[in-house]
Amino acid sequence: MTTSRDINTLLYGKCTSCLSPDGVIYHDPPYASVYYCPKCAQRQALYQAGQDQLEMLVREGVQAWLSVWGAIPGMVDLGEQLRHIGDKLEEEFKVASSAQESTQSAPMPEAIS
Ligand SMILES: [Zn+2]
Repeated sequence: MTTSRDINTLLYGKCTSCLSPDGVIYHDPPYASVYYCPKCAQRQALYQAGQDQLEMLVREGVQAWLSVWGAIPGMVDLGEQLRHIGDKLEEEFKVASSAQESTQSAPMPEAIS
């Protein structure tokens, strides 16, 4: 028989991410359940929303691409092509981000006195 103490033991636990004691169980099928504190649960939800939006954007483009190129033998290796495109875009993003950071962190010109 399951007691309320057993249920509390199942519902609450140490946060899997930051180890704070105020974790609450979080189900993420097909993955195993984990515990997240409020802060980590919010970060996880934001991360998931970003992933969902990216997938939606990519999915529409890939479906359009497949309608044109999908019937040509040897053209479709989506996993490989998307990994290559992802690596390329990530590299371009890193270069652009570091260029922007170096521009922002450049010392302010000294005031003319
Ligand atoms: Zn946490």
